[in-house]
Amino acid sequence: MIPMNQSLPQDADVERLSCPFCGDSYEPDDLGRHSEPVHCGPCIQCVGKPACFTCGLMYCRCDVHKFRG
Ligand SMILES: [Zn+2]
Ligand SMILES: [Zn+2]
Ligand SMILES: [Zn+2]
Repeated sequence: MIPMNQSLPQDADVERLSCPFCGDSYEPDDLGRHSEPVHCGPCIQCVGKPACFTCGLMYCRCDVHKFRG
């Protein structure tokens, strides 16, 4: 007798990761945006943070991180 209880491979749910920098959950595709450090300008608040990070400094001049209200 051949056992018939062969289980089909299941599609793995897309793993949602939670970003400590922007608070969003993101998919592995977006990992770079949320984890790769950006070496930006003179602002010490946001240098080295990933692209998704929004700098809280009012006078931040960083193109990547400055707050866009
Ligand atoms: Zn993020
Ligand atoms: Zn920055
Ligand atoms: Zn900044």
